[in-house]
Amino acid sequence: MIPAQFDYVAPATLEEALTALADGGDDAKIIAGGQSLLPVLRMRLNAPEMVIDLGKIESLRGVRDDGESIVIGATTTHAEVLTNPLVRENAFVIIKAAEQLADPQVRHRGTFGGALAHADPAGDLGAPCLALDAEFVIAGPAGTRTVAADDFFVDLFTTALDEGEILTEVRIPKRPGWGAHYEKFVRVAHQWPIVAVAAAVKVDGGTISEARVGLTNMGSTPLRARSVEAALVGKPATDEAVRAAAASAADGTNPPSDLNGDADYRRHLATVLTRRAVLAAAGS
Ligand SMILES: Cc1cc2nc3c(=O)[nH]c(=O)nc-3n(C[C@H](O)[C@H](O)[C@H](O)COP(=O)(O)OP(=O)(O)OC[C@H]3O[C@@H](n4cnc5c(N)ncnc54)[C@H](O)[C@@H]3O)c2cc1C
Repeated sequence: MIPAQFDYVAPATLEEALTALADGGDDAKIIAGGQSLLPVLRMRLNAPEMVIDLGKIESLRGVRDDGESIVIGATTTHAEVLTNPLVRENAFVIIKAAEQLADPQVRHRGTFGGALAHADPAGDLGAPCLALDAEFVIAGPAGTRTVAADDFFVDLFTTALDEGEILTEVRIPKRPGWGAHYEKFVRVAHQWPIVAVAAAVKVDGGTISEARVGLTNMGSTPLRARSVEAALVGKPATDEAVRAAAASAADGTNPPSDLNGDADYRRHLATVLTRRAVLAAAGS
């Protein structure tokens, strides 16, 4: 279908974009890469009167080193993230997730911030952001605020972004001494994850001293596998110990059932992928 008619603006600054968003109110919608929004408009599931394109705002694009963190601008494309040396050096688990996200065409148009703001529960980037303890920087009419990854994902396709706000960047703390890994299960290439797991662990002298595990598609938002995290700390980074801890990966989750697998299958996958991700993270 052809989308309903809308006005289009492409502001050059964040301030202009925020003003356009405030002026448009309920009838305005942000577009970044358009990979999720355009299908929605074409199906007429949403019919904004004003579409505000972030693509010309230079300050929202690129990756920079901020000392303690690396900062990924919201409109940095997945393809740009994938080839960025700072991300490769400090957040390799993001590379692992982004290289399996969709296909090359989507990765060249879709953006890091757009995927996170869209908040599809099967999206590949939420769980790595949870595992890396990322922070989301949000600009709005009242100024700028920072939201922890744990608080950003609120519900299905719903985030902490309020009306009139724009996600500007994601800050990922550098964590020397940590290893991280992403395990995604799909039936065919370029598929959304049936289940995926991002694990980040710190190993001191063969013992896991800290652990963060994020789950994809095990509920309406990306989730922390907190019982696994608690069970891992103080244990040796061995197959036996990690397998035992990963057995509780599905605790407190509410996975969907669909043609790709029912909820029980996903619960089983979560335990298997968690074991693999943690062992790989511990060895990386
Ligand atoms: C064929 C196909 C396969 C895909 N497969 C996968 C996959 O396997 N894994 C995966 O994770 N994703 C997948 N995606 C989605 C992909 O990651 C998109 O890039 C992403 O969902 C949306 O990013 P975008 O920049 O295109 O956002 P847009 O489509 O432009 O926007 C999406 C939503 O986010 C809002 N938004 C965008 N940017 C901001 C911002 N900075 N601040 C506030 N709100 C904002 C928009 O208003 C809109 O509501 C797939 C997409 C397609 C088309």
